Amino acid sequence: MKFGTKTIHAGITPDPSTGAIMTPIFQTSTYVQKSPGNHQGYEYSRTHNPTRTALQQNLAALENGKYGLCFASGLAAIDAILKLLNPGDEVISTNDLYGGTYRLFTKVFEKYGIKFQFVSMANPDTLEQFISPNTKLIWVETPTNPMMNIIDVVAVAALAKKHQVLMAVDNTFATPYLQNPLDQGADIVMHSVTKYLAGHSDVVMGAIVVNDPKLAEELAFLQNACGAVPGPQDCFLVLRGIKTLHIRMERHCQNGKTIAAYLKNHPKVAKVYWPGFEDHPNHDVAKRQMRDFGGMISFTLKSDQKESAFRLMENLEYFSLAESLGGVESLCGHPASMTHASIPKSEREKVGLSDSLIRLSVGIEDVEDLKKDISQALDKI
Ligand SMILES: *Cc1c(COP(=O)(O)O)cnc(C)c1O
Repeated sequence: MKFGTKTIHAGITPDPSTGAIMTPIFQTSTYVQKSPGNHQGYEYSRTHNPTRTALQQNLAALENGKYGLCFASGLAAIDAILKLLNPGDEVISTNDLYGGTYRLFTKVFEKYGIKFQFVSMANPDTLEQFISPNTKLIWVETPTNPMMNIIDVVAVAALAKKHQVLMAVDNTFATPYLQNPLDQGADIVMHSVTKYLAGHSDVVMGAIVVNDPKLAEELAFLQNACGAVPGPQDCFLVLRGIKTLHIRMERHCQNGKTIAAYLKNHPKVAKVYWPGFEDHPNHDVAKRQMRDFGGMISFTLKSDQKESAFRLMENLEYFSLAESLGGVESLCGHPASMTHASIPKSEREKVGLSDSLIRLSVGIEDVEDLKKDISQALDKI
């Protein structure tokens, strides 16, 4: 089955009791048993729910994986992955990381004796020196948020295999439409489903996809034991959103390309971060591991001040100023004061996350309107 067929058909079967073509919202907490232990595979909705099962199977198929697990948020999914570890274990992570992930690692899991190193993975050859006998997990985001750095998944996965370390990829920005980390050697792929997968800015959810049955069993245990599961209504909304993922992504990529080129040629713009540019760091890796370059763009202004960035964002009309990304509507954000405010300024500046950096999630509107909007807002600074 090809990708566009999977989004619509994988894991979805008409409801056997009625023939309903759309997966029903099984809004139930429990299931009647004929006699103790004699049931139809469903006992209690923290453990299993048919709407969630359909979504989990669909997501697994999209990532070319065997097992999918959904969580109440992207961070709840990351939380479950970290709970595979024990006190004393070490994690090597991308240094340019989603702020909430950084906060979860340093403010929650460090307390339980897990150690984190945040390093640049731009050149995988420099990574091996950080691996110790205690290293148990390598955590990768690519493209990174918000600097759009590209990490070579194949190279990092080879290193992880060599040292028998688990490798997880946060695939939120790329989505399975653009890259499939499991195919490239990663052990775990994680999503903030909230973003492109749900796609309509109306759900918060997370997911994990793996191939290894033992890993799937441990994660399913954590999903049930810790209980951060999504409700059936949200699973239904995501199933509905995913049916158009390939169409939406195609347009996100087209619009992203147009807007990135427009910004690059604008006299008030200093630098544009978008992996599709030939001079973007690791563009060759992006070309190899991604099918296209996506609709996420960051840029800085020549007048490198927070005030200029704020003024621009206040004047944008179609790019709403909001947290999050990946919805049909265009959004803009100021990472230094929003998504990445929990990362200290000194750490932010090390990775180039300056005060005038603006991040765009380019939506699927008519791109001419988006260009006009950016143009009029840039005129006002
Ligand atoms: C939003 C996001 C998360 C966290 O997901 P939530 O659904 O908000 O909990 C993790 N990683 C990336 C890259 C994100 O954009």
